[in-house]
Amino acid sequence: MNTYSEARTRARRDAAEVLEEFGDRRLPVDPVAIARAMGIQCYSAQLGSNVSGMIQRDSSGQASIYVDIDDGPRRSRFTIAHELGHYADHMWRDGDGAVEFVDRRDGTSNVNEFYANEFAGSLLMPESSFAAAIDFGMSDSQLADHFQVSTPAVRVRKQTLGL
Ligand SMILES: [Zn+2]
Repeated sequence: MNTYSEARTRARRDAAEVLEEFGDRRLPVDPVAIARAMGIQCYSAQLGSNVSGMIQRDSSGQASIYVDIDDGPRRSRFTIAHELGHYADHMWRDGDGAVEFVDRRDGTSNVNEFYANEFAGSLLMPESSFAAAIDFGMSDSQLADHFQVSTPAVRVRKQTLGL
């Protein structure tokens, strides 16, 4: 397995674990409620034109997620889920020191971002519910409404699951 396929497997497993432990099994998945249940604060703030979101853990161990106030609700939901991915990947089980991830709109792609995006898709569109909704005959835009994500996010999820 290469680094990316390993990251994908781990992101899916971690998202399922977070949903199981901190979710309420309702759709659409509420990433803010999950963050709160994990002890993470969420803030909407003016982050500047080139930053969509960030997560910081301070030296006391408190983690905070910031999303850009100018983004719409679906974009913000995905950003929060993406930041939760960075949390699951680098902070959840790892130490308690200060850590920070800042997501720029023209951001670099690397394995950390790949993991966080895979985690976000897996969290907001849980595999079994997503497959069931497709079997039910939902179109991409109906799936986007059902899971409260963007249509491009639906298409990426379909592609990565081979559905
Ligand atoms: Zn990121």
